[in-house]
Amino acid sequence: MKTAVKIFIDVLIFMFFAFFLLFLLYYQTGSLEMVPTEEDQENAKMISILGMIFFGSLCSIGIIFRATMQKWFHKGEKAMKKCTAGMFTKIVVFLVFGVFFLPMAGLFLYLSIFDSSLSSAEQLMFTAGAILFGGLVAFAAYRVFYLGIGWVEYDAETVIFHCSRREQHRFRWEDVPGPKVQAGPWQGGYMFVVLTGGQQRKVGVSRFSTGFKDFERTLESAGVLKRIGVTTEEDFKRAAEQVFSQFERYREEKAGSVRPKPEGDCVPCPDCDGKGIIAKRVLRLDIGKICKTCGGSGYVPR
Ligand SMILES: [Zn+2]
Repeated sequence: MKTAVKIFIDVLIFMFFAFFLLFLLYYQTGSLEMVPTEEDQENAKMISILGMIFFGSLCSIGIIFRATMQKWFHKGEKAMKKCTAGMFTKIVVFLVFGVFFLPMAGLFLYLSIFDSSLSSAEQLMFTAGAILFGGLVAFAAYRVFYLGIGWVEYDAETVIFHCSRREQHRFRWEDVPGPKVQAGPWQGGYMFVVLTGGQQRKVGVSRFSTGFKDFERTLESAGVLKRIGVTTEEDFKRAAEQVFSQFERYREEKAGSVRPKPEGDCVPCPDCDGKGIIAKRVLRLDIGKICKTCGGSGYVPR
């Protein structure tokens, strides 16, 4: 049904456009009378302009409607979130490589081969330039085409890896990583390798990707990070707290150790100011060596 409506509107748009072109042609050729008078020509011009305006607007309305309709159709479906290469990244990559590196490589190559007036030193320099810029372009092409700049679509249960506009692979989170898809940390983000019929398809998501934060949270709550052995801040805190409570228990059990007692027969240790642990702050958690003077209790006998 949806497809039928879409095709119908596409045909309409095409027809409006065809009429527009016909009137444009009419405007060019002028009146179709065998011997057109001045008045005939004026009329023809008038009609063709009106026709172009009419069908031109219909065509634009059709295109706008088509775009809006796309949204209506997808509104009902449970929306999936996306994590894609950031627009900024795309623009920068395009500008740097498309507008600068590629033309430079071409220019240097052209000069080094075809400019016969060059001295051999200049020629060598241009060749080096061509190799340098060519290498950068090749590297960019490798990154884009080999490693892939796909994007991912996901919700709490499912993830779809889009390797290209046509190719996509859907997985449930619990199958990631699994025999069909590998996952691992990559350049501050994550790389997913989909194995499909003996071939590998790579989809990388970096921290510069649009929607990365949310994607990473989903990876964590779906347990993917744990399965691929990436320690999250939360895991780290939990582990550290466990170590501390173990230490506390040890101190309580061990006879002769000095318990923290601000009053009575103890005074705060001068080396650690009663803290016991000379702390190093990591991720807002005190981690660090235990004070040697007080053995970590923070207090020494008076
Ligand atoms: Zn101390």
